[in-house]
Amino acid sequence: MNSDDQVLFTNVTVLDGTGADPYRGEVLVEGERIAAVGRTGITRRPSGVHVVDGGGGTVMPGLCDAHAHFTWNNGASLDALADMGVEEHTLLAARSAKTYLDCGYTSCVGAASAKQRIDVVIRDAINAGDIPGPRYLANAKEIASTGGALVPGITNFVDGPDEMRRTVRTLIGLGVDLIKLILSGEEITGSQRAEDTYFTDAEVEMAVREAHNRGVRVCAHARSAESVKMCLRAGVDIIYHASFIDEEGMDELERQKDRVFVAPGINWIIATLEDAGPWGFTPDLAEQVGYKRELEIAVEGMREAHRRGIRVLPGGDYGFAWTPHGTYARDLVHFVKLFGFTPMEAIVAATRQGGEIMGQPNDLGLVSPGYLADLLLVEGDPLADIALLQDADRIKVVMKGGRFHKAPAATVSSGAPAFGDEVLVTL
Ligand SMILES: [Zn+2]
Repeated sequence: MNSDDQVLFTNVTVLDGTGADPYRGEVLVEGERIAAVGRTGITRRPSGVHVVDGGGGTVMPGLCDAHAHFTWNNGASLDALADMGVEEHTLLAARSAKTYLDCGYTSCVGAASAKQRIDVVIRDAINAGDIPGPRYLANAKEIASTGGALVPGITNFVDGPDEMRRTVRTLIGLGVDLIKLILSGEEITGSQRAEDTYFTDAEVEMAVREAHNRGVRVCAHARSAESVKMCLRAGVDIIYHASFIDEEGMDELERQKDRVFVAPGINWIIATLEDAGPWGFTPDLAEQVGYKRELEIAVEGMREAHRRGIRVLPGGDYGFAWTPHGTYARDLVHFVKLFGFTPMEAIVAATRQGGEIMGQPNDLGLVSPGYLADLLLVEGDPLADIALLQDADRIKVVMKGGRFHKAPAATVSSGAPAFGDEVLVTL
């Protein structure tokens, strides 16, 4: 990982994350931030700047995954995570963090850690520059009610507002950025229906109040219609899944759309229906327990949410055997194919709105002067083929905070560098 004070991306198309049409231009990075963005010939060119010739590729903001689990181990079930040694588990999470960054994800929202402190430790190590990884909102073990856990061995159990208060305060004391509540079931458990709803309003309101008092946000696994409405009554900040949202919930979601985010994690359902057979969860079985029906209903719900201008963000539950780490950008294709997003809208959801869900809307998610230089140089045009973002080989450069995580592949002599330029690469 090099540190370069000044880097100029030239001969690129700038896809800036705002939703505006891309344009041919240049991007100048100074220190950790973007200093200037301009159409070719406009950007000033400091002497001694490192020039990256993008070869006509696309410079765009780094991607954000709104529902990430660094501690998931690509296993067929999460039960083994409870028994994994904390040392091995921490190393595994570090590898996941690097994989996200390798794939162009410069921000991730942690949606539960299989052990209490791993997310926090990994986040701090990333921020200290000790290990590579995206900017990360750290979570702890998810909180469920007795009898309401999806994976009991990796869960904090809470019953009643008083226990909720104590547990939320304890997790805040560990340094989390987010609290995760399990408000509904999940069909793959075999015992807890996705349309079941756990916890009471009093418990959820307590979690939100305690978290917000300390500047910590709350996210929730909420598949049932009632659980989505419970989130909206209590002020939960990030609603995961929302598969069975009903009309009343949708209306309320729309009223709160400037505050709340929805991340359906739709690839989990699709992959569970299509790709889990080798691990014993055949398409027939997945359909039988209800995932096909849930997918159909969830797709309609997310299409409607998108029509209403609700922020629906990609990302979700990668790290199972059939949703392995490194395949994160599958979500973007689903958004286009199933939810009615244009490729541009899918990219805005993963970039500009990613900055918003990270809580840094003025720092993250755009190629714009003053923003942190979390940038990708992509070979090709993601608007023409959104699936190309699934191919890490097509992501030629990954920069986070002005530093190369993935540096230009080769140093190429420009022949006649202007103003003492050092030309780093031609794609
Ligand atoms: Zn999850």
